[in-house]
Amino acid sequence: MRDCIFCRIIEKKIPAKIVYEDEFAIAFEDINPQAPVHTLVIPKKHISTLLDLKDEDSNLIHHLLKVANKIARDKGIAERGFRLVTNCNPESGQSVYHIHFHILGGRQMHWPPG
Ligand code: 5GP
Ligand code: ZN
Repeated sequence: MRDCIFCRIIEKKIPAKIVYEDEFAIAFEDINPQAPVHTLVIPKKHISTLLDLKDEDSNLIHHLLKVANKIARDKGIAERGFRLVTNCNPESGQSVYHIHFHILGGRQMHWPPG
């Protein structure tokens, strides 16, 4: 999609530190990391928010979760613990309207989140 920064990363039109890629998903390091591990997992299909998910996206979301698990294991944070976050719409703090999972780990997380 034009004007979507994550679509441009998928198209390799802007650079990113890509750590995983397959036919349906791509994962890359967050440009402004909030933890020692801060990786974003996104679908190659442009979906703006969680609220835009359709029944046909069920397998895709399951796939993204499996990719997130793989990255957590590969980065050595799976057993220690990690957080998977998706922000949806303005009050959550969503700033990029292409659905994404933040994988956060490598430090103690706090609750409630800010
Ligand atoms: P949101 O605020 O929508 O939940 O998360 C968007 C995330 O994307 C933020 O953590 C932000 O740092 C990251 N981000 C925004 N623009 C870029 C970019 O051009 N490259 C990378 N690697 N991350 C980005
Ligand atoms: Zn997009």
